[in-house]
Amino acid sequence: MTSNQELIDRGLRTVWHPCTQMKDHERVPPIPVRRGDGVWLEDFDGNRYIDAISSWWVNLFGHANPYINTALRNQAKQLEHVILAGCTHEPVVRLSEQLAAITPGNLKRCFYAENGSAAIEIALKMSFQYWKNNGQTGKTRFVNLENSYHGETIGALSVGDVSIFKDTFEPLLLKPYTVPSPDAYCREPGESAEEYALRRAGDLARTLEEHAHQICAVIIEPLVQCAGGMRMHHPAYLMKLRELCDIHDVHLIADECAVGFGRTGTMFACEQADITPDFMCLAKGLTAGYLPLSAVVTSDRIYQAFYDEYDSLKGFLHSHSYTGNPLCCAVALATLELFEEHDAIEQNKALSSFMAQATERFEDHPHVSDVRQTGMIVAIEMVQDKASKTPYPWQERRGMRVYEYAIQNQALLRPLGNVVYFMPPYVITPEEIQLLCDVAWEGISRATN
Ligand SMILES: *Cc1c(COP(=O)(O)O)cnc(C)c1O
Repeated sequence: MTSNQELIDRGLRTVWHPCTQMKDHERVPPIPVRRGDGVWLEDFDGNRYIDAISSWWVNLFGHANPYINTALRNQAKQLEHVILAGCTHEPVVRLSEQLAAITPGNLKRCFYAENGSAAIEIALKMSFQYWKNNGQTGKTRFVNLENSYHGETIGALSVGDVSIFKDTFEPLLLKPYTVPSPDAYCREPGESAEEYALRRAGDLARTLEEHAHQICAVIIEPLVQCAGGMRMHHPAYLMKLRELCDIHDVHLIADECAVGFGRTGTMFACEQADITPDFMCLAKGLTAGYLPLSAVVTSDRIYQAFYDEYDSLKGFLHSHSYTGNPLCCAVALATLELFEEHDAIEQNKALSSFMAQATERFEDHPHVSDVRQTGMIVAIEMVQDKASKTPYPWQERRGMRVYEYAIQNQALLRPLGNVVYFMPPYVITPEEIQLLCDVAWEGISRATN
């Protein structure tokens, strides 16, 4: 029998963990996970943890979900993989039909990759090439928002704006025009989230007025900037953004990698502003946390700009080895079936109002400046000084203290800097939410003591 300690020791000799200063593991080792069951993870010594962050925001219907397991097993017996250039298969056709049906407006055409970052690269390249194919070679730049996050590959990192991930690589990156974020946390006292969003849309308008002739697209995480600390904005910004993109002949790329698939209370965040982007990037929840798959869904108008004789060189000559992998597509289809079967969007309404109630008390915590929520995401902002919203210096790593307390007490929380958040699988129960709140309260109290 493997024990926690044995696996930790062996792992630390060979595995390089993502987004980690490996030296941290001298003090806080990785959690050796033996199995998952619903919202729970279990280690080799039988300790259990609620996966409050859906394993980096991917899991929707619990670990080791029997329905998805069956779909995966059945597909594996039939066809595990085939090249998608020159071949097609049933799971990818069915999934494309379904995505075309559930995404907003005229989004009808699906291009696949293996992760969110690759989906972003594809949207950037497609947007650029669309303009090039139409003879507009001066459009070579992108507009992004302050504090945004779009992934880690060079292009995706370029259009992000989280300095801890980006600064090191700055000399390698594309240079976007960065506009202020509509993040409601930054609004002035007495200003509503909507007023603030509209004020920030004014900044965007000025950038587009000046530079639209150079700009391919504006890229945004609709409603919630997740990696940037679960910062949330009013949908009015998205409506204005759509209007401005139309006026200035610039594409709108909606990065729904994290917020798609019911996370914000609607199937897609864009629905809450009633807008259709030119490109919608989907990843994470697309396979309910099972397998790496992403998609860029776009309109027929975009697609037609690439459709021509081969020697026009207007085709989109981009691929990945596992593009449209049948196992991934079968799991994505099973995920969409579970949405129907569980009536997940409707069920989440009850769960998110329970989360609202259960986290209300954090507003009174002396070191909490903000408790915010969009659908199935609740974030709690720890601060040094509540009145002035003065943050703790990042070097103090207060969030890490919350993490350490939580893993001793049955919860896997993974604060983003000073922001403690819950983004649980949709199969969590009110009792489990309550447990998370109790652990987070105590963890925050100790971390800020
Ligand atoms: C996670 C994420 C990505 C990148 O997806 P990966 O699969 O990690 O490459 C892109 N955009 C957003 C908004 C994300 O949250």
